[in-house]
Amino acid sequence: MNTIYPWQQEQWQYFATMMQADSLPHALMLTGLEGIGKHEFAKALVAAIICKEPKSDGQACGVCKHCQLLQANTFPDYIKLAPEEDGKAISVDDVRELIAKLHLTRHFDAHKVALIECAEQMNANAANALLKTLEEPPEKTIIILVTSQPLSLPATIRSRCQLVNFYPPTDDEAMSWLQSTIDDVEWEPLLRVAQGAPLQAMQYHETELLDQRIAVVQGYLEVFEPNANPMDIAARIEAIPFLLCFQWIQAVIVDLMRIKASENPITLENPDFYRPLLALAPRMQVPLLLEFWELLIERKRIFDNSLNRRLFAESLLIRSHKLAIKHRI
Ligand SMILES: [Zn+2]
Repeated sequence: MNTIYPWQQEQWQYFATMMQADSLPHALMLTGLEGIGKHEFAKALVAAIICKEPKSDGQACGVCKHCQLLQANTFPDYIKLAPEEDGKAISVDDVRELIAKLHLTRHFDAHKVALIECAEQMNANAANALLKTLEEPPEKTIIILVTSQPLSLPATIRSRCQLVNFYPPTDDEAMSWLQSTIDDVEWEPLLRVAQGAPLQAMQYHETELLDQRIAVVQGYLEVFEPNANPMDIAARIEAIPFLLCFQWIQAVIVDLMRIKASENPITLENPDFYRPLLALAPRMQVPLLLEFWELLIERKRIFDNSLNRRLFAESLLIRSHKLAIKHRI
């Protein structure tokens, strides 16, 4: 069964209307924050496009031959591409293979559908390879790109797709959905840490992500202490995905700035670290905080293109520690 979350009804209606009129654009890009259900939505959309007899709300019937094949991962006219693991690029070979499959004769009298998850992970060559197919797609083909970072994709790719934005639900909507899913969890801090993205909050609850986040935030805060050992801290967090480390550290700096602006900020990204953040903030002036911010952004840029992303934590923490020592925080 595919899921359309309550906060995605508007987008679903938009597609349902186009599907009924058989007027779906041949290239779509679904964008929005991570953790708000874009991937689930894309899955439901693929199923609806492929289904022989969609239901009145536009969703796939789940029982026709096409639906059954799709559920068994054997529908021959559907191709999915996603990075093999977090942070790994989608290569030009992957994209060429996808394009070759799109040009094969269709097996059924339905659309051929390609789904590219985490499309921002396509490297420049891969994106270039896709460009021509987006311009002149084979007949009855729909290509769907899903990304939380559309600006990381070349403008030429974006301009050839119909963009559809997804937004996080309001806090009330998110809380009521989370509580209706599991009611005996204290959701509010999880939702806050997940920056309002309910599926991310759910993931925090279900996986070790929350522990990982605590390790990263704690580790980064330690760097400001004179006797810290950044190599040790890096070793503790180096296995954690690069992008998550970056986002969590970014959130710490944002919180420190918020506290500089007001001792009682209305919201914090890390409400569970309020006390240590409050203790640390007066030791730094805003220009110095900006230096830590710049350092983080610079390290990310360097390691974005690096094969050895594990060095990101080490390099960032050592430099941040040196900066803290230099300014006698
Ligand atoms: Zn069906």
